[in-house]
Amino acid sequence: MSDDPCPEFPEYSTASSALDNLPFVLMVVLGAGMLRLSITDSPAGWIWAGLYVLAGALGVLNVMLRLCPYCPSYGKRSCPCGYGVIAAKLRKAGDPRAFAGRFRGGILPLVPLWFIPPIAAIVALYDSFSWVLAILLAAFLLVGFVIIPVLSHQHGCKQCPQREACPWAGRTKPPVGGEAVEGSGGHVS
Ligand code: SF4
Repeated sequence: MSDDPCPEFPEYSTASSALDNLPFVLMVVLGAGMLRLSITDSPAGWIWAGLYVLAGALGVLNVMLRLCPYCPSYGKRSCPCGYGVIAAKLRKAGDPRAFAGRFRGGILPLVPLWFIPPIAAIVALYDSFSWVLAILLAAFLLVGFVIIPVLSHQHGCKQCPQREACPWAGRTKPPVGGEAVEGSGGHVS
């Protein structure tokens, strides 16, 4: 039985949460591949690709440690991507009223992940065109700049009880019959 104070909002199974993470994982894999192909010096290309994957993992951990404890979905299945459940095993809950103020610190470290691989790929393509790299770049742009934002707004944010106060989800309209709740929270992956 749910202990969620907002039971009208859905709870997500482990399988659903795992699926929710797939686009971000795919983007990181594509980005690492692009860096490997863009930086042709070996082992520099591999090192940059590895650092990129590490940055993705640390960025997610940062969200769990700095942001999720302040989200009303902390420790609950109403967190679409499952970070809130993991965060509850890592840190104590914070004050949900502080969520909006902590949003930037939680999200900003992830932002370079969207830009470093495309910049490296465009420079490499300008130097020496490669169809493989061009296809990876197109796939990365599709996943990172279309699929992830659309899924985030249409899936997690739209059903989040705290979307009105969330800097990322605030533009998302509430679901039919849903009511905005004062406070904070939002789906960030
Ligand atoms: S909805 Fe977002 S901020 Fe809230 S627990 Fe899940 S990942 Fe963290």
